[in-house]
Amino acid sequence: MNSSSSSEPTLSNADLFERACQVLPGGVNSPVRAFLSVGGTPYFVARAEGAHVWDEEGTQYLDYVQSYGASLLGHADPTVVAAITDAAARGTTYGAPTRAEVELAELMTSWVPGLEMIRMTSSGTEATMSAIRVARGATGRSKVVKFAGCYHGHADSLLAAGGSGIANQGLVGSAGVPPSAVADTVVVPYNVVPTLDDDVAVLAVEPVAANMGLVEPEPGFLAALRAECDRVGALLFFDEVITGFRLGRGGATVWSDVTPDLWAFGKVVGGGLPVGAFGASRDIMANVAPLGPVYQGGTLSGNPLATAAGLAVLRQMTDDRYLELTERAARLAVGLRTALADAGVEAQVPQVGPLLGLFFGADAVRNYDDAKVSAALGLYPRFFHGMLSRGIALAPGPYEALFPSLSHSDGDIDRTIEAASEVARSLLN
Ligand SMILES: *Cc1c(COP(=O)(O)O)cnc(C)c1O
Repeated sequence: MNSSSSSEPTLSNADLFERACQVLPGGVNSPVRAFLSVGGTPYFVARAEGAHVWDEEGTQYLDYVQSYGASLLGHADPTVVAAITDAAARGTTYGAPTRAEVELAELMTSWVPGLEMIRMTSSGTEATMSAIRVARGATGRSKVVKFAGCYHGHADSLLAAGGSGIANQGLVGSAGVPPSAVADTVVVPYNVVPTLDDDVAVLAVEPVAANMGLVEPEPGFLAALRAECDRVGALLFFDEVITGFRLGRGGATVWSDVTPDLWAFGKVVGGGLPVGAFGASRDIMANVAPLGPVYQGGTLSGNPLATAAGLAVLRQMTDDRYLELTERAARLAVGLRTALADAGVEAQVPQVGPLLGLFFGADAVRNYDDAKVSAALGLYPRFFHGMLSRGIALAPGPYEALFPSLSHSDGDIDRTIEAASEVARSLLN
């Protein structure tokens, strides 16, 4: 179907990008979308349905970006669209509490063991930023320890050696962040258990790292972090903005059988609308205003459209559906590994449940330094464009995960593997 079914003239991606660059920095509202690390012009999406997006020129792509993991069912799922439409007709924001907020919080806390209370926000960044504030407020300590290559949104104190967009830009941190803002942030390598001092408020981790490509925690790593935090009285903070409600109903908490003190959620939990949430035990959340002294709020927090969309997604997610999603990711992982190996291209295709990554190079990737070595081989941009020209959209940067959705059929996945096989052969020329 052509996107320009209305009377509007068709616009080319190149024309739109040129106009965009006049009024939006880099032509985009989030850096990774600008194609800076792969080169070329971004496609401007006109609409999306299921596993596919269509750009303004009417070109169809099989989409593995899926809003960087915000979509679990695929685009424009009819039940989600109906829930949003129904909510919108009843008003889009009130500034008063709603039943849907209670229901979503009840559902989330019933699925994640140890999570007893949540506070909703409008983005993952707000959720992680607020979780850090709660950790500092609850412990009376200032220091934050994070892992290189883990991305926790763009709050000042967490914008040191982050993955994802920061990695793609080759920036260590960010201009505009004063040294004082990161003076209490310590960055350590992933998959090595740090020795903490007793002035550490919180140890932040992506329990499965998905913003430096996909890097699995080594066996025992997360449990050892739990023990080290307990030893010095620091709080363990799982940033589950990607893993939450994606690895399974209980996210990385159930997957790893390690229970943190603090969680952040986002992406999936908003069903494709702007949402985040942070949470903890009742004890820790008693620090949050109006119960306690840690201030946190938001005009649009717990927004009726977002909670309706989140509930519409989560209520469909039985264990069977998660299993189905994992089987699809496994089919893709196995197929990609074979396609790349048969073409003589050295590559790693890590898979953790429904999450999938792709690293070029012979060696397994266990931290950010390894991921950078892989990216420096320079094969990703060529692979990306080869796939895109065959109608398959991967993230436009080497540090992102792939996000197959429940709308990706076996046929879609097999087509992806065939395309990868062709592109892989062309890489060695
Ligand atoms: C995406 C992401 C965030 C930030 O969420 P936004 O909604 O983009 O602000 C934080 N942490 C992790 C692990 C993420 O993947």
